[in-house]
Amino acid sequence: MSNTFQLEIVTPSRLLVKDAAEEAQIPGLSGYLGILPGHAPLITELAVGMITYKASGATHRLSVAWGFMEVLPDKVTILAEAAEHPNEIDVERAQKAKDRAEQRLKSGDAQVDYPRAEDALQRAETRLNVAKEK
Ligand code: ATP
Repeated sequence: MSNTFQLEIVTPSRLLVKDAAEEAQIPGLSGYLGILPGHAPLITELAVGMITYKASGATHRLSVAWGFMEVLPDKVTILAEAAEHPNEIDVERAQKAKDRAEQRLKSGDAQVDYPRAEDALQRAETRLNVAKEK
């Protein structure tokens, strides 16, 4: 068996990753999944978080927000709603999104959609964390 699997990460607008990966950690809805070559087939929904994968011995990171993943023994396909490489993340924008979400969450305002603000906060915090890795 090969010691790599094909990893593809796409969003509705572009292809971000097409690489032979040795391992990957992916944020599934019920927690992080560790993928190695030969993994049993599965389909899962993705959460918001950091994707980490190793290819040719180097570790790569991306932020991801929602989507689906198909795992086959020799191929993993991620269809993400949004995903960014560390060097694509606009830190100022993410910091502003974080501040905005935090203001909403502590406002006590009945008009605020709290789950939406929590999701926005999680996306912003993930982007800030991933951007630190660049
Ligand atoms: P914002 O409130 O700043 O728009 P958001 O979390 O609502 O952030 P998303 O809906 O997750 O944004 O993403 C919309 C698009 O903008 C996606 O293509 C995503 O990759 C991109 N994007 C969002 N935030 C950033 C960022 N800080 N840097 C680079 N691209 C970003």
